[in-house]
Amino acid sequence: MGEVIDTAALVRSGSSSAADVMDACLKRINSRDKAVNALVSYDEDRARADAARIDKKRADGQTLGKLAGVPVVVKDNICTEFSRTTCGSKILESYVSQFNAFVVDQLIDADAVIVGKANLDEFAMGSSTEFSLHGGTLNPWDTQRVPGGSSGGPAVAVASRMVSASLGSDTGGSIRQPASFCGVVGLKPSYGRVSRYGLVAYGSSLDQIGPFATSVDDAALMLEVIAGHDDRDSTSVNEDVPVYTDALHQPIDGKRVGVCDACFAEGLSDDVRLSVESSIEKMRDAGCEIVPIALPHMKYAIASYYMIAMAEASSNLARFDGVHYGYRAAEPRDLADMYATSRGEGFGAEVKRRIMMGTYALSSGYYDAYYLKALKVRRLIKVDFDAAYQRCDVIALPVAPTTAFAVGEKVEDPLAMYLSDMYTVFANLAGLCAISLPCGFDGSGLPIGWQLMGQPLGESTLLSMAHHYQSMTDYHLQAPELATK
Ligand code: GLN
Repeated sequence: MGEVIDTAALVRSGSSSAADVMDACLKRINSRDKAVNALVSYDEDRARADAARIDKKRADGQTLGKLAGVPVVVKDNICTEFSRTTCGSKILESYVSQFNAFVVDQLIDADAVIVGKANLDEFAMGSSTEFSLHGGTLNPWDTQRVPGGSSGGPAVAVASRMVSASLGSDTGGSIRQPASFCGVVGLKPSYGRVSRYGLVAYGSSLDQIGPFATSVDDAALMLEVIAGHDDRDSTSVNEDVPVYTDALHQPIDGKRVGVCDACFAEGLSDDVRLSVESSIEKMRDAGCEIVPIALPHMKYAIASYYMIAMAEASSNLARFDGVHYGYRAAEPRDLADMYATSRGEGFGAEVKRRIMMGTYALSSGYYDAYYLKALKVRRLIKVDFDAAYQRCDVIALPVAPTTAFAVGEKVEDPLAMYLSDMYTVFANLAGLCAISLPCGFDGSGLPIGWQLMGQPLGESTLLSMAHHYQSMTDYHLQAPELATK
């Protein structure tokens, strides 16, 4: 069983106290976080008080929830009323939300303890967690390397075993790519499965919140807790949440795994290719059928994704104007200068680049040529996946073309950075669910992940296949040396 499931069971039965669990967690955070900078903020007193409240609830005879006493962290673009939500940006440096995100309330209702907030690329724009007001987060397997992004903080908090689960957000790969670089499980739910209420919007038609954990069982339990309908997010799906932890045990023999040759072509490192191919062979050994599929519009996915994400970002980020939230420039000359200077000083370079490109793509005269074209390509990609899922149940592919790259390597080259998302953006464009699973190590000892993509709302099948894979392998059980300190 996973650590989250075990801890909750122990606290529920009274064999462990939430207070002791929290104590051990805070010790780990205090000894490890300095080396990797995964957390933006945490409050020991509040975490201990929450743990004590859970112990008291039990002592009073109440039944505890599914995450009883489990310490978790959430990405700092998920709103919490008890701490700042900075999005890694100067413009929100001192912003405290007046409400909790839906997922935060779900965690609290399940008796989890939210210890703190985790680092990210500014407004979740990036693939390396180097673009943050709080400085970069480092990969616990090798601190000269990036952890991936934009949810590098939540991934590293789990990889270095500070907490056994966390929440990130995934607009184009920000849960799966850091999970792969850090050797943990990362799950992006189908669009609409988890409410986005209280997630600071980046690309609203692409964003989803999802869990990191060390095992598929734990990720399934986390999803069970955070999924569900919410009136405050008009795109939230109004369908019952399956008991994913039961679905894990569905038989997988006879299930069809789709493989697209184009996903294994040029640009993919040999270590990654070999590990992903051998994972697919393991599924064949477990009784799955491997079927070839075609994704003819795959090569246009990155261009379409970045056009749509930037267009939506330019619109979503218009609200940060120096008036409604956060940072305001000192002594502006007039109103226009106040807007311009607040935004000019408050946003970082990558965020500004995206606002400018997105605004350009949406401007009259260019709208049809860029934004509308990107939407049409998105539609064709969705049609490719609809056709592929006539032939298979899940699709197997790499998560990223390489393992973790060096700190600073791609900072000056946005295009190279964007290309690290070439295998992840499809799931967001097509609204699919997808999971990243540890599947090996490269020649330098860095973790490799592989990806399974399921149909919209196909999480039960996806998780059962992933769970069976983990029952045949032990890559997910290996932790970096930092986790022993
Ligand atoms: N790296 C991608 C981007 O910068 C994805 C980010 C994300 O999923 N939040 O847009």
